Amino acid sequence: MDKIAMTNPIVEMDGDEMTRILWSMIKEKLIEPYVELNTEYYDLGLEHRKETNDEATTQAAEAIKKHHVGVKCATITPNEARRQEYNLTTLFKSPNGTIRAILDGTVFRAPIIVKGIEPYVRTWAKPITIARHAYGDVYRAFEMPVGLGKVEVLYTDGFGVEKKELVHEFSEPGVLQVQHNLNPSIQSFAKACFNYALSTKQDLWFSTKDTISKVYDHQFKDIFNDLYEKRYKPLFEKEGISYFYTLIDDAVARVMRSEGGFIWACKNYDGDVMSDMVASAFGSLSMMTSVLVSPDGNFEYEAAHGTVQRHYYKHLAGEETSTNPCATIFAWSGALRKRGELDMIPELIKFAEKLERACVETIEGGKMTGDLAAITTIENPEKKNTEGFLEAIADTLKEIMSE
Ligand code: NAP
Ligand code: MG
Repeated sequence: MDKIAMTNPIVEMDGDEMTRILWSMIKEKLIEPYVELNTEYYDLGLEHRKETNDEATTQAAEAIKKHHVGVKCATITPNEARRQEYNLTTLFKSPNGTIRAILDGTVFRAPIIVKGIEPYVRTWAKPITIARHAYGDVYRAFEMPVGLGKVEVLYTDGFGVEKKELVHEFSEPGVLQVQHNLNPSIQSFAKACFNYALSTKQDLWFSTKDTISKVYDHQFKDIFNDLYEKRYKPLFEKEGISYFYTLIDDAVARVMRSEGGFIWACKNYDGDVMSDMVASAFGSLSMMTSVLVSPDGNFEYEAAHGTVQRHYYKHLAGEETSTNPCATIFAWSGALRKRGELDMIPELIKFAEKLERACVETIEGGKMTGDLAAITTIENPEKKNTEGFLEAIADTLKEIMSE
């Protein structure tokens, strides 16, 4: 059998610890036997970020702008403990944050659905994808404690004209918070959401609290609505999908009664909170995928989890590990599928589907890693170690490929 050829490269970003070990195994055992893999490789492992003074991260992000598709391994975001472990002089920023800032992207998170790993909400039959706006609101808020007295906002516009408004007369001590956001950022977020809905052919929901926040949240609602009416409506109608705006509390109630299969766009705080709720209600963080979509059509795929440090230290100590590679495999399949779509290579799209099927069928056949064995409804699951589970997926894939 000839290997599937690729025309344009995928930007490949290697990472750290246990996921770095999974990374090379996934390529060697699952992809390279079938695909003439064409990647532009960037090493974002902390050692190499240190050697390049984090230039590697910026270069990788620029490469995604050029080639439009990237796949990223989980990476360490350095903290004080890591400074000592890796002998760092600077605490580099989170690579995900750096890449997101360069691409101006929105993150979409969706669970991998498998029979036997049942969501806690009985009606959820399809994935719920959460899109979180990643700028402003409470994350960039100004805060201070206040005593008795008057708080006012003073706005000086570009011509020096001042406008003063009373916030509150404090007759008792209290606390103050001032939030802001930027129209271009909200527009980018909205575009990424509409584009992703079109690219995955799923309905888009958006929710805020505009009945209470009649100016701030209402501005989000208006920006989404304007874009939809002026640009996206005919495209949505052509795909047979819909855009739906509702209040955040109504959205929460509807989500719990839904069967899934849609994208839920959330403001920054709502997305932060709701993505953790939805992820754990679907069963497992190790089965959560993530894709960064930029408003001008660049896609970066990754697993939602981190580098699984605890397993890595066990591995270094020579102990057996049982680390779940599924989210990282789905990052690869997502990138291969998108490459196939952009370059019109149907075999590559089909291969991505088969690779995903191989993961799902292996688990549904009772073979899984420890994290899933602990929560599955399948009787007598066979708990595999890291290598054993990858071998099992490779065996399933071999069968599927020979169909
Ligand atoms: P983590 O790597 O997500 O792991 C936390 C725990 O979740 C693990 O100890 C493990 O639980 C379980 N887990 C996560 N993924 C798993 C998998 N694939 N298979 C089985 N179990 C899995 O988070 P962390 O340990 O807090 O962070 C480690 C490093 O990752 C940090 O340096 C952080 O900066 C980085 N990080 C990177 C990203 C990213 O690049 N996108 C995201 C988050 C964190 P048990 O130990 O109970 O088995
Ligand atoms: Mg959170």
